[in-house]
Amino acid sequence: MKLSLIVPCYNEAEVLPIFRKAVQDVRPQLRVDELEVVFVDDGSRDATLSILQQFNREDASLRYVSFSRNFGKEAAIYAGLQHAAGDLVCLMDADMQDPPSLLPEMVGACLDEGYDTVGTRRSTRSGEPPIRSFFARCFYRFINHISDTKLVDGARDYRLMRRPVVAAILAMPEYNRFSKGIFQWVGYKTKWLEYENVERAAGETKWSFWKLLKYSFEGIISFSTVPLALASFMGMLLCVIAMVTIVVLAVRHFLDPMTAVYGWTSLVCLIMFIGGVQLLCMGILGQYIAKAYLEVKKRPIYIVGGKSE
Ligand code: UDP
Ligand code: MG
Repeated sequence: MKLSLIVPCYNEAEVLPIFRKAVQDVRPQLRVDELEVVFVDDGSRDATLSILQQFNREDASLRYVSFSRNFGKEAAIYAGLQHAAGDLVCLMDADMQDPPSLLPEMVGACLDEGYDTVGTRRSTRSGEPPIRSFFARCFYRFINHISDTKLVDGARDYRLMRRPVVAAILAMPEYNRFSKGIFQWVGYKTKWLEYENVERAAGETKWSFWKLLKYSFEGIISFSTVPLALASFMGMLLCVIAMVTIVVLAVRHFLDPMTAVYGWTSLVCLIMFIGGVQLLCMGILGQYIAKAYLEVKKRPIYIVGGKSE
């Protein structure tokens, strides 16, 4: 039984030694014959790559794949899954926010309790700016309302999987990757573990508010077509309103032709409103077309710049 840890790293030079130490500490408690760590250097601009090369020289089970530039965490996850050889594969962050001390319990759930995959979620969002928590909650409520793929609030990408689950995920080679959705979409018998939110050990988060907002749109567009239906619905609704208005105005015109002169304010409001709704619907349409456009180009999800033997 071999366990692979997949660790996406983007400018994580500060935490890598801490991470390595933590994995070493937990190793004796892991009931697996072999352990390998696949670090994915996501085009870091600091010393991350040289540290990983050093790790690999000291210990051949610490492997790495390095990208030619920053492709994002989703690409790093995909690359890691492709390069991992283990029967059990675990995704985790380098910054210690996914505590390695949880690994023995996760492995146990797969080996003893017959689960195919073990997911983790944060029981609290403490230590996070309140505004970020608020938007996160809104996002989960919204997407779970409109998508058949139900996402778990607070779920992290810290996840242990058996080989068949990994194969199922690798069989989804889509370019616009939203892992939280993909994990749920493939299904399998899943156990959820909860833990308290941990602050990152060193370095800083790579996710700005805008990056997260963009990521949430990615999730909605990748896993739901409801916004498209919403656009058609708004169109229909406006048509019905227009027909009623036409009848009312026509009748009024014949009863008293002079009233039409008073309509300037309402006319301008209507033009603005309908113009807005039209642009919104075109925008929604555009989002899906853009995703389809990127998808049909069939560009590689990442490009390898170098890797360990
Ligand atoms: N990460 C990555 N590529 C990126 C951004 C982040 O591989 O473009 C990695 C990062 O090195 C870390 C993990 O993804 O191991 C989570 O990132 P971070 O801790 O910044 O996110 P947060 O925990 O704040 O959500
Ligand atoms: Mg983090």
